Amino acid sequence: MRVVVKRAGIGQVSGAVQVIGAIEGEQRPERLLPASVARDRALVGLIQRSGFRGASNETTLLPKGTGWVLVVGLGKSKDLSVERVRQLAGTAARVVRARGLKQVALPLLSDRMFGAADAVAQALIEGALLGLYRYDHLRTVPAHERNRRIDTITLVVERAADLAAARKGAAKAEVIAEAVLFARDLITGPSNIVTPTYLANQARAIAKEHRLKCQVISFATLKRLGFGGIVGVAQGSVHPAQFIVLEYRPAPRPAGSSRRGRRATKTFAFCGKGITFDTGGISIKPSAKMELMKYDMAGAAAVLGVVKAAAALKLPVRIVGIIAATENMPSGSAQKPGDVITTLSGKTVEVLNTDAEGRLVLADCLHYAKRFKPDVVVDLATLTGACVVALGSEAIGLMTKHEQLASRINQAGQTTYERVWRLPLWDEYGPAMKSDIADLRNVTNTGEAGTITAAKFLEEFAEGLPWAHLDIAGTAWTDKDKPYIPKGAVGVGVRLLLSLMENWK
Ligand SMILES: [Zn+2]
Repeated sequence: MRVVVKRAGIGQVSGAVQVIGAIEGEQRPERLLPASVARDRALVGLIQRSGFRGASNETTLLPKGTGWVLVVGLGKSKDLSVERVRQLAGTAARVVRARGLKQVALPLLSDRMFGAADAVAQALIEGALLGLYRYDHLRTVPAHERNRRIDTITLVVERAADLAAARKGAAKAEVIAEAVLFARDLITGPSNIVTPTYLANQARAIAKEHRLKCQVISFATLKRLGFGGIVGVAQGSVHPAQFIVLEYRPAPRPAGSSRRGRRATKTFAFCGKGITFDTGGISIKPSAKMELMKYDMAGAAAVLGVVKAAAALKLPVRIVGIIAATENMPSGSAQKPGDVITTLSGKTVEVLNTDAEGRLVLADCLHYAKRFKPDVVVDLATLTGACVVALGSEAIGLMTKHEQLASRINQAGQTTYERVWRLPLWDEYGPAMKSDIADLRNVTNTGEAGTITAAKFLEEFAEGLPWAHLDIAGTAWTDKDKPYIPKGAVGVGVRLLLSLMENWK
């Protein structure tokens, strides 16, 4: 699939379905976008007579000359945002593909309402590329489906002044979409293929492509070095755990740049939960829907995607991706309820439920992160079912004691529409994680505030770090088909963290 940015009038890309946006009105669209469409009286009449109203993601495909025009609703004018643009592009691309048509022309919508030209271009191309995602690696795709494939997405820019910004936004979107789709592939891939070793090899491949530093610590070494949190979880599996450290550094600043400039480079450490399959261990989960537990490495997938995109975009920050990849299996060698483990930090944990394993592996990741002296640490984890109960699939659970970091992450959530909702991390929640015989227990005995108490547990291993925890248990997978998020793996977190770093001033 090609993405082309072209200066042209609307409707002038021959062979492509021309997409038009429409703002919702009572009886008919209130307004068509871009504004130049109004000059085509015949087309405007056709749309008005079609009964099309312009509701969000409503579509109508109309014949025009020898080609087609696809009108996509943007919803009411008071709700317009860059997210509507992203959705419009996802919806449009999928309708065009479903009709067996090969080319789609998206207009660079008026920047006054949606934002700067580069941001709108980025949203359009991201929406289209993310919306067209399909996982076809493991099945024979029937011929009629194989032929339903879009070859070219053209971004149509009417004003020459917007061309450079549109190109920049579109190019960035291609890189970011590739990283999100990469994460979706890893999450969708079943656990017999996407093993801890597979994840480590993906990290190595990213390192090779972008000349990054990648260190993978083997299970035997983890044992020797005292990574007790990871080892405890991993010891029941025949697939050896892999501890992955993938580091991106920006190119050195040119000679003559100030020392202050060099010192200003921020270090972001991102810790990803990489449970490639979570059976629950000896505290085994019920079998209904257990197959979804291949997604328990979605945090790790996002971290890999973030580093991959950041390196391609040459972001001026240092990033350390830290991933604990392992299965959580029941077996003769698995850890048992009541076992006490010693984590990398030296703190001991009474493992009362082996299904609360994510926090055990993350405890070691967070402690390990300290050696990089990061300016920001964010962990991403499909951590608690309680988060799904509290926030469903629309909001990521955010927990941090750092107000500024919270507001920056919240802003990135608004920009990318990977929205976060903050839960308290008050100290009163802490004592529930104290054990009678060890420093900590890995679950409370009340079951209250499961998302928060999990974060309180993690906080014990993040002392001194400017740290935020993102619980993506509800947002990493969707059963609803959304305009640019087809049912299945979302790849959540990639766009959020890239936006966080990009706007870090
Ligand atoms: Zn679990």
